[in-house]
Amino acid sequence: MTDINSKLVNNPQIQSGGQPVSPTLVTSTAFEYESGSELEEVFAGKKFGHVYSRLGNPTLVTLEKKISELENGIGAVSAASGMAAISGAVLTLAHAGDEIVASSSLFGGTYELFSEVLPDYGIKTRFVDPGKPENFREAINSRTRLLFVETIGNPRLDVVDLDTVGTISREENLPLIVDSTVTTPLLVRPEEYGAALVVHSTTKYINGHGNAVGGVVVDTGNYDWEKNPHLAQNSKEFGQFAFIATMRKRMYRNFGICMAPFNAYLTLTGLESLGARMKLHCSNTLQLASSLRNNSKLKKVRYPGLDNHEQHQLAGRQFRNRYGAIMTLHLKNKKQCFELIDNLNIAHNLANIGDTRTLIIHPESTICREASADEKKQMGVDETMLRICVGLEDIKDLIADFQEALEKL
Ligand SMILES: *Cc1c(COP(=O)(O)O)cnc(C)c1O
Repeated sequence: MTDINSKLVNNPQIQSGGQPVSPTLVTSTAFEYESGSELEEVFAGKKFGHVYSRLGNPTLVTLEKKISELENGIGAVSAASGMAAISGAVLTLAHAGDEIVASSSLFGGTYELFSEVLPDYGIKTRFVDPGKPENFREAINSRTRLLFVETIGNPRLDVVDLDTVGTISREENLPLIVDSTVTTPLLVRPEEYGAALVVHSTTKYINGHGNAVGGVVVDTGNYDWEKNPHLAQNSKEFGQFAFIATMRKRMYRNFGICMAPFNAYLTLTGLESLGARMKLHCSNTLQLASSLRNNSKLKKVRYPGLDNHEQHQLAGRQFRNRYGAIMTLHLKNKKQCFELIDNLNIAHNLANIGDTRTLIIHPESTICREASADEKKQMGVDETMLRICVGLEDIKDLIADFQEALEKL
């Protein structure tokens, strides 16, 4: 045992040195214990410990704790993707025979889950126009188990009045789930408006660098889970942690929706700059939208940060005078949309949001292509629209790129 590696490994001074400051990646699938009785205690829940990474893992716990803190939560469950977080949360609360009341202005994957997939499992969704919050109350009946909204609809860019919907959810004794992916905790904490759960696709702004798919569900502690018939039993055992315990058991252990530790590690690294990035994302978007709003080649620029947006005031109040980083450009026709995409040098033509890079897409021919004409109308999508997710590039370069690309039309 004289080789250099053994000396390093066995040197107690090195082993007891400082603590790592950057997030630690633990990829171990399983966790061992000295004695039979210790592992028995861990399995019995008498002693906290990790067992197997499909049930929990130190890197995942670090991410869950940080996001929970950012959202004023009592705890969080990470998931393999934003869609895994949403389906995991919904299936924990709603079983066959139950109903969901959801905003009709939703991310395409969520809309499809609710409208096409969950009905096959006996769960029905009533979609309502979130522009009139009372619509949520009217769609509620004795089978309703949850309300679901997004903070800013994508790509319709309509702003949900969280105060009013939150009040309705409290009055109706139902948990409100808020997908805050496009706003992040920097713009809004849905907990303050009475949301029971906050979900994020961490793939987007929380990670921010376009290099790891992931999702998370935060329990804000606002809802008494005893009121949900499927959680009543676990409420006796786990109290306010009944949702988290049930989601962890059913969705993690049984459905296996866990996030990969490496993705959690990348997400933790990205999360460190969330505040600085979101400020720049939002200010870049406001400047780009303002510089383009009177461009004669465009029929319209749509962005909640512009004072001609119908909910500009509400957005400012609710999102602390920031308006997110998604805007839409409306041109004459599809041909011009494609020409603009081809003329741009900085913007990347792809299906994603929340990257350091500026992204552009023609939703009607891509992410919304399977939607019916009616659904496209509901989502505010037509063939003359382009969606831009503004990145962190130098704003002068970005404005120049868009202006030059528009001039060539
Ligand atoms: C992308 C997105 C999702 C889905 O997240 P994935 O990580 O792609 O599964 C859900 N909600 C919103 C608002 C999104 O933008």
